[in-house]
Amino acid sequence: MPVTEPIRIVIIEDEASIRRFLRAGLPTGEVDWHEAENAAEGVRLVAQKNPHVVLLDLGLPDRDGLEVLRELREWTDVPVIILTARGQERDKVAALDGGADDYVTKPFSLGELMARVRVAVRHGSRMESIVDPIFRSDGLTIDFSARQVWVDGSEVRLTPTEYRLLALLAQHAGKVVTHRQLLKEVWGPGFEDSTHTLRVHMGSIRQKVDPDPTRPRFIRTETGVGYRLMVG
Ligand code: CA
Repeated sequence: MPVTEPIRIVIIEDEASIRRFLRAGLPTGEVDWHEAENAAEGVRLVAQKNPHVVLLDLGLPDRDGLEVLRELREWTDVPVIILTARGQERDKVAALDGGADDYVTKPFSLGELMARVRVAVRHGSRMESIVDPIFRSDGLTIDFSARQVWVDGSEVRLTPTEYRLLALLAQHAGKVVTHRQLLKEVWGPGFEDSTHTLRVHMGSIRQKVDPDPTRPRFIRTETGVGYRLMVG
């Protein structure tokens, strides 16, 4: 994204206090900010402003946020970050499975939100360009064409299943990939609920690439939701 262009954001959120808190703290000159307080207005604003990112609250007065997401996904790939309340794990999962790119849990800091926004924007613009066959982040390198993985320059031997899981996380680096998405992509339809199997394989990947569980370098567990490969 060119540095001269501010990030255009549409927020769809009925709580005025949250909109006000965000508006007051936005980095000056970096953001072009547009607010909607209900679903109907929000969808209209997204069509009108063609934003780089949409921030979407799930509990809206006129319609469920998940329905809004579904409607947006019929015509736009704009990155959508969900704003959820604590304890709404099922909603987060449904939103990510429904095509949301990420979520933040209320109350969140502006710094955290803007970091997620930047990742989403980078990812959104990357989708249009040619995918680099080499993934690099911190000390982790993956060659998608040769299916090889290195940590700090040493090659790591993964089973085919482990490799596919790690590659999927890398393809969505910085974003949460849900248990359901991983199971569906790697094991196929019908295995979406085999979370125990997934946990076993993730544990094994971690032993190979991320052996210190107290200080994970690459893979973060999003409890009850999925996993995120950190962007270094
Ligand atoms: Ca709300």
